[in-house]
Parts: sequence; structure tokens; C-alpha cells
Amino acid sequence: MEEVASSLSAATDQYFERAATLLELEASLRAVLRPPKRALIVSVPTKMDDGSVRVFEGYRVQHNIARGPAKGGIRYHPNVTLDEVKALAALMTWKCAVVNLPFGGSKGGIACEPKEMSSAELERMTRRYASEIAQVIGPERDIPAPDVSTGPREMAWIMDTYSMTLGHSALGVVTGKPLNLGGSHGRGEATGRGVMLCVRRACELLGIAPSGARVAVQGFGNVGAIAAKLLAREGFQVVAVNDSTHGVRHDAGLDMDALFAHRERTGALAGFPGAAPITNAELLELDVEVLVPAALENQITKDNAGRIHARIVAEGANAPTTPAADEILARHGIFVIPDILCNAGGVTVSYFEWVQDLQSFFWDEATVNQHLERLLIRSFDEVYRTSVERKLSMRTAAYVVAVARVAEATRLRGLWP
Ligand code: NAD
Repeated sequence: MEEVASSLSAATDQYFERAATLLELEASLRAVLRPPKRALIVSVPTKMDDGSVRVFEGYRVQHNIARGPAKGGIRYHPNVTLDEVKALAALMTWKCAVVNLPFGGSKGGIACEPKEMSSAELERMTRRYASEIAQVIGPERDIPAPDVSTGPREMAWIMDTYSMTLGHSALGVVTGKPLNLGGSHGRGEATGRGVMLCVRRACELLGIAPSGARVAVQGFGNVGAIAAKLLAREGFQVVAVNDSTHGVRHDAGLDMDALFAHRERTGALAGFPGAAPITNAELLELDVEVLVPAALENQITKDNAGRIHARIVAEGANAPTTPAADEILARHGIFVIPDILCNAGGVTVSYFEWVQDLQSFFWDEATVNQHLERLLIRSFDEVYRTSVERKLSMRTAAYVVAVARVAEATRLRGLWP
């Protein structure tokens, strides 16, 4: 994971520097935008069920707050490090800026193995972590959300802990909360829906008819499964999907409703009637119109990039393509929808959740989806226009749009004191 963290931060730095050069940003402004504004390391002593006490290390990093409060998830994983959290916080700054949300970027995490902890242990750890970072978070300061191994349950505990210290409920302190605790309709599906919207728009611009266009999806989790389901509804033919254990392929198109029902019934994709098994490498290299890597980072590397046959790669996951692979895909004329745009649907609906919490006025799902489509397509078109006008890849164009916004905000504010 150290390696992943350093390659993630190396990739994010490289994309930032490239955009900064294209924008001719002065050295002093680059120096201001590059490092995190604030990085907090906290010790999280937690009473375990057997009466012993374990001390976990937690982090909260705020990369930039020039355009508004910081926004970013909290991840629980044994390999969480300060370096990884810093890189992910920077990625959030650029992601929020590319969609033009009034947020900066942040990230948090605890190095722990949540699978080996009971719910009571997780609750005590989460509440202690929340109280340790309470001094730097808040609806106007920094708004956490779920990330790897955290979800609505953890967000409810953080909201409650923070609110208890204030003496009143502060719904807007976290997003991704349960629906009846200030959560938003549409939040669960938002990232996958954003992927579908970006793919549909890319097809429109590239003259690919959705009807019958073949799609392969790596990772059948929150992002991948929803993207696959919604793309199938749009007429795309989802010919292969996989998760960490199995892959299934059906060249005439997998029946998504039947596949969801099969997984619900059996707990796995394997054995889906009428489908053939497929390996992960085979899935990535299929001859399809659209490939959606929606599992993990570093899946398309210099070793397999030359064998990717898709016309569009839609990055549902964060950093699924290494910078070296990115160059190969560009040389081969493959249209890459970069992660900071393609999977920004989640943070966009998190923004809507925060707005609804602050106003205590809640929207129905159709309104959420309508606003999501409007914001995401507007951003997609801005990035596309920049890529055409300046002859850049979609990724470089997305970073140019994002870095320009944060740089301009920083210039307008000036340096205090
Ligand atoms: P998830 O845990 O719900 O799903 C991940 C899926 O990938 C699972 O089906 C898992 O089995 C599969 N997988 C793991 N290793 C695999 C492998 N080697 N080959 C094939 N499949 C594999 O996670 P998620 O929330 O869907 O997130 C997926 C990616 O999207 C991550 O990179 C995450 O950071 C990113 N992302 C998620 C959101 C969100 O709102 N959930 C938002 C932005 C970005």
C-alpha cells in the first residue's frame, strides 16, 4: 500500500504540475497549491470488547479550502498512511473544483482492520476519532463522508458525537448519512449514476449509439454495479462484469435484473445461468466500446494498456490508470473520462445533502437526479471544450479546469496577512 500511496501521490502531483505549466502559474502560486493546508495526526485509544485498550492512529488532512469548506471521505483500512491520505485529499480538491462545487478537498482515515472488529468496538473507535478531529471539522470547515469500509452507520455516529459536544444537532457536519438523519435521496446511487451520465455524453460526442454499444465493468460494487444497471437501462449491452472473486461474460448482453437477483440469492456472480466465466485480465482487454474500471487503483498499467481495445475508458474507480498507461491510451486514441470527473457524482450529491441539511429543506429523488445531471454534464462539456480547444487529453483538460479555478480563487483572496 505504501507503493500505491506513493504512486497515487506521484500521479496526482504529475497531473497538477502539467496543468500548472499549461496555465503558466507562477512558482509561488504552485508552491501554495501543492502541499496540504493542514494535516492532523490523532491517537485513538479504544476499549476493545475483551477489556483491553488498543491505540489506533488516525488522520485528517485538508488539502485546500480556497473555494469553501474542505470535503472528503474517511477510510478504515490496515494500510492507511498519512501519505495516502494526503494524496487522496489533493485529489478531492481537484474533483470538487472540476465540478465547480464550493468546496476544497480533504480526506481522513484510521489504520485499523475493521473486518476484525465488532460493531461496538467500531463505534467506540469512530466516536473517539470524531471527538479528536472535532476541532477541525464542521459544516463550515470540513465535511467528512464515507469511503472504504465506512458508511451511513459511521456517519451517524460522527454526526452524533460532534452534535453532543455542541449541544445541538449539526446535520451538515457529515454527508452520506442515513436518509432519516439528514441523508439525501439518490446518494447511494450517485457515483454510478454519474458514471452512466458521463459515458452517455461521451458516446453522444463521439457518435457512438448507446443501443447495442458493448460495455465491460470491472468491479461490481457500489459504483460498478449501479453504473452497469443504469447503462443497461440506457440500451447499452453490458457484456462482462466481475468482482474480486468471479467474472461473468455474455456477448449478447447480461440481463442486469436477473444478475442482481442471482447475486442476491447466491451471494456471488459465479454460476449465473447462460454466462461464461471470464478472468480479470480478459475483461479489461475485451473488444468493447466502453470499459468501466470501477474496482481499485492501478488496474491499467504500462503492461496491459497496449492491449486495451475499448474506445472509451470511464474511470469509476479512483486512479485505476497509471500515468504511463494513460500516455499509451492517449497514443492509441482511446477516450479516457478521468476519475476526477467520471466518479464525481458521489461528491456532487454529497454537496446536495449538505445544502439540504443547512436549509432543513429536503428534495425528492427526481430533483436530486435532475440537479446531478445538470452539474455533471455542464462540467463534462467544459472539460471536453477545453480538451478540444487546447488539444489536450480529457484528463489534462480536467486538471486544467480544476487547477485554474483553485488558482483564481487563491489569487482573488490574496495572501493573508
Ligand atoms: P465497493 O467495495 O462497493 O466495490 C468494489 C468492487 O470491486 C467489489 O465488487 C470488489 O469485489 C471488486 N474488486 C475488488 N478487487 C477486484 C479485482 N482485483 N478485480 C475485480 N474486481 C475487484 O467499492 P466502491 O464504493 O464501488 O468503490 C470502487 C472504486 O470507486 C474505488 O476506487 C473508490 O475509491 C471509487 N469511488 C467510489 C465512490 C463511491 O461513492 N462509492 C465515489 C468515488 C470513487
